[in-house]
Amino acid sequence: MNNPDVAKQLDVLRSQLNDYNYQYYVLDDPSVPDAEYDRLMRELEALEEKHPELISHDSPTQKVSGQASDAFTPVQHEVPMLSLDNAFADEEFSAFDKRIQDRLKRSWTVEYSCEPKLDGLAVSILYEQGLLVRAATRGDGQVGENITNNVKTIANVPLRLRGNNYPQRLEVRGEVFMPKQGFEKLNEQQKAADKKVFVNPRNAAAGSLRQLDPKITASRPLLFYAYSVGLVEGEVEALANRHSERLQQLTIWGLPVCKEIDTALGAQQCHDYFAKIGQQRDDLSYEIDGVVFKVNDIEVQKELGFVARAPRWAIAQKFPAQEQMTKLLEVEFQVGRTGAITPVARLDPVFVGGVTVSNATLHNQDEIHRLGVKKGDTVVIRRAGDVIPQVVSVVSHLRPEDAENIVFPEHCPVCESNIEKLEGEAVARCTGGLFCGAQRKEAMKHFASRKALDVDGLGDKLVEQLVDQKLVKGPADFFKLDVAQLANMERMGEKSASNLVNALITAKTTTLPKFLYSLGIREVGETTAANLANHFLNLEALKEASLEQLQEVNDVGVIVAQHVFHFFREQHNLEVINDLLDVGLNWPSIEAKSEDQQPLNGQTFVLTGTLQTMDRNQAKAQLQGLGAKVSGSISAKTHFLVAGEKAGSKLTKAQDLGVEVLTEEELIHLFTQYS
Ligand code: NAD
Repeated sequence: MNNPDVAKQLDVLRSQLNDYNYQYYVLDDPSVPDAEYDRLMRELEALEEKHPELISHDSPTQKVSGQASDAFTPVQHEVPMLSLDNAFADEEFSAFDKRIQDRLKRSWTVEYSCEPKLDGLAVSILYEQGLLVRAATRGDGQVGENITNNVKTIANVPLRLRGNNYPQRLEVRGEVFMPKQGFEKLNEQQKAADKKVFVNPRNAAAGSLRQLDPKITASRPLLFYAYSVGLVEGEVEALANRHSERLQQLTIWGLPVCKEIDTALGAQQCHDYFAKIGQQRDDLSYEIDGVVFKVNDIEVQKELGFVARAPRWAIAQKFPAQEQMTKLLEVEFQVGRTGAITPVARLDPVFVGGVTVSNATLHNQDEIHRLGVKKGDTVVIRRAGDVIPQVVSVVSHLRPEDAENIVFPEHCPVCESNIEKLEGEAVARCTGGLFCGAQRKEAMKHFASRKALDVDGLGDKLVEQLVDQKLVKGPADFFKLDVAQLANMERMGEKSASNLVNALITAKTTTLPKFLYSLGIREVGETTAANLANHFLNLEALKEASLEQLQEVNDVGVIVAQHVFHFFREQHNLEVINDLLDVGLNWPSIEAKSEDQQPLNGQTFVLTGTLQTMDRNQAKAQLQGLGAKVSGSISAKTHFLVAGEKAGSKLTKAQDLGVEVLTEEELIHLFTQYS
């Protein structure tokens, strides 16, 4: 390449990096992941190294990136706040260690302070006579932004130092960061309020701290860890000579310092520390992106000095990136066990968070909308720890012209049933239930479960085998199984198979509430099934019920009514029901109960503790049969609490509220009275 070509390439790289710097440092809104920025920076460094004559003073390699925004009052740093050189592998760290020895012309084992590299933003806090008088961002290293009032709102930043032997002017430097949990919570709140979510804790911290209104900063879960001392005046000799001891001193004066900080002798111990922190990374409560190694001896630090943008005595060794960018090739829609439809992004495979990722979840329709993502887009993928890879943002300036909108399907990709998305719910679901191949296994387990048809001997494992071996496709098939087929299953013999066939025959006679519950209609639990049965009295009337009629049922609101209504509008659900009736499922008819058959109508009961003569479900069903409402929690509206053995907090609450408490004996007496 000749010089004009190189100069052009340098220009392109520098201008791209400057744009990224502006988005990252000034807007707190990066468009590309750090790994992409670091890649371009390395490309620029390599090119400049080959062509030193073309290095310009304003190249991003020559200065501390970042710039103070005009929105804040400028603060001139008396001691510049620099950046750090990077190492991306143990060998690069070893080379750094060797460079130090060569430069000092000594062969000795260097002691390092080893510090997790917190992923937040650097802040300088000035204490005068022990009082916090000023705080500033790094800015371009020379001039930062005055954010004193914002920093004062951070919970663990002392406004006054403890003790009295601190220097008269002491500038403490450290990182303001947002712990992972606080970050998740903040983003949930932002989403709920339809506000912009932050792509990672670093941007959340920067965006929260660089606010013109300190009240906003105060509402954000920020913390601070000190990691060095800048300007010192007065009683300088009070400061220790080793960096790690200085950090100890800071803690005595009340400043928070990261507990994971340690010292290491020589490169090998540093490699070990790096590996150890790497293993702890996912379990730490805050985000880190590497480890900072600093020569521990302050005199040696001074001897080594600085280059343009970074000290010679420190280096940041970075972990493999947890964010990378790649192309979104296609979106597929998966159907979960409960019918939830999840859009999954198929990606150009990319190495991120230590593994190659080719799929990432897009969660739901709202998320696609929020991201504004299209097929063909370049997207930022994040994979931290064991968490499923996420699409965090779209690199909009790389959108190709032929990017396509993502269309959410109206029919289930597995069974073609309608997909419904109820108002107020984020998740869209297939309405196929028992019919849908993706949901079949769970639906069949539910059908056979104790509260549903209660088939003795038909446990989850056996249902799984029967579905896997395609011996049952719908619930009616259970009743067609013969002893020979069942005896062939794992952990089954002739005897247990024949017992099961008998149990299936017995289970054919059930009750309407149990039958309705067994169908697995969304949000129709035992109580709702019983309420529906008691209201409509027979299946035909329930099938025909309008949305309005459904809402007349005790405890049935709009959402449940919609689920029930849609369920009975799906032809294949009706077929499942017909098949079950064809194999002989039956139940006694329910008589409409007159007022006097519902003597407990309008009374609310709560059950707690262990009952001796019946289980709580039986007691509940009997109470409901008498017209009572059985609730799970006590309130002033509760009429009776039935307290079995070992009744706990509910009993205390009932006593506090003056709710009448019944013993098991009194409950039985009530039942006999009305039977
Ligand atoms: P740096 O983040 O690599 O290292 C310096 C910073 O580390 C300090 O300013 C401080 O904030 C932090 N730090 C954390 N723990 C520390 C400790 N114990 N001791 C000292 N410092 C500690 O350098 P930088 O100049 O702040 O930022 C450059 C990096 O920022 C790039 O490598 C890139 O990853 C990222 N960046 C990304 C974009 C983007 O568009 N995605 C743009 C600009 C910069």
